[in-house]
Amino acid sequence: MIPTSFQPPVRTLMGPGPADVHPRVLSALARPTIGHLDPRFVAMMEEIKDLLRTAFRTENALTMPVSAPGSAGMETCFVNLVEPGDTVIVCVNGVFGGRMCENVTRAGGKLVRVDSPWGRAVDPNRLEDALKQHPEARIVAFVQAETSTGASSDTGQLVGLAHRYDCLTIVDAVTALGGSPLEVDGWGVDAVYAGSQKCLSCTPGLAPISLNERAVAKIKARETPVQSWFLDLNLVLGYWTSDGGNRRSYHHTAPVNALYGLHEALLMLTEEGLEKAWARHQQHHIALRDGLEALGLELVVPADERLPQLNAVSIPGGVDDASVRRLLLERYNLEIGAGLGDFAGKVWRIGLMGFSSRAENILLCISALGAILNELGQRVDTTAALAQAQQALSQ
Ligand SMILES: *Cc1c(COP(=O)(O)O)cnc(C)c1O
Repeated sequence: MIPTSFQPPVRTLMGPGPADVHPRVLSALARPTIGHLDPRFVAMMEEIKDLLRTAFRTENALTMPVSAPGSAGMETCFVNLVEPGDTVIVCVNGVFGGRMCENVTRAGGKLVRVDSPWGRAVDPNRLEDALKQHPEARIVAFVQAETSTGASSDTGQLVGLAHRYDCLTIVDAVTALGGSPLEVDGWGVDAVYAGSQKCLSCTPGLAPISLNERAVAKIKARETPVQSWFLDLNLVLGYWTSDGGNRRSYHHTAPVNALYGLHEALLMLTEEGLEKAWARHQQHHIALRDGLEALGLELVVPADERLPQLNAVSIPGGVDDASVRRLLLERYNLEIGAGLGDFAGKVWRIGLMGFSSRAENILLCISALGAILNELGQRVDTTAALAQAQQALSQ
């Protein structure tokens, strides 16, 4: 077969990411490519850093997008901050906490793993026990918004605890940024990383990060060089920092058009207003929840630990996980997420992230799920469920 231009179907993305990308972001991506050291491009990079500071609620000088996906943001924080021999406490309540553990051991750190149940927030008492048992610990790491389960942890509280025991903090905010409250300076988060394709509604492939002065001081005091050349912040900074203009030196070719997209996405977030975006995610979560519950479905996470942007739903007994997701995709062009890890086959993950968090998506999801569940022999009242969701949307 002779390949022809790839024309993707138009889907509605209500999984764990990527989320729907706004047409404004897609058209920004198609603008003419310019050189990555072009003064006009450099000026745009400066704006991206400012817009990211607004989104992260920080004044941190070291705030920038890593030219690679969220996982590379994670790796950037760990390879730079963890020196061989450092004790690092990782709080694990899902898949992404598990990946942090991998990062610690590969960077030569001594891992102390503190597990909390899947589908629950990180338990601060368990963290405090570990901090007492390991006075030598230097770093505490955890995921604010665990996309594998839909649980939201209390970043302010966990960071405060870590600081009381003289530890720096690394926080995964990949799914949190733009979707639920995150106060990098207000809570004293030392290092944070995010992703472009979740609540920022941009294309995948960029990882905003922000590190405060304490984190930068730890990196500068390293005795061993950062083992990754590409992610070594000492080198990347020479490219992203403008001290007076033309000192910017080549490190790697920035993904020029992808950064146009991020710039547009961040601009849209600022135009909407960060707090309004958080409120929108919360209101839409309530509407989806009311509709799902009226369909007889149950959310996995206890009410006060739920993320608005990722809703984990128990799959009812006798319903085949894969068939439902396949029918949603084939018939309604609607993508929802499967369960990961311990939750595989047991839960669906319904995302309401960024541009995906819209009233029409909620109604599509409720009506499509209702129709398919009925077809598969469940007796559900789709009309009543839609009315519940609509009522919450009109509040
Ligand atoms: C999606 C996600 C990541 C990884 O981001 P990629 O862009 O897929 O590399 C890391 N942490 C969390 C919590 C995520 O949701």
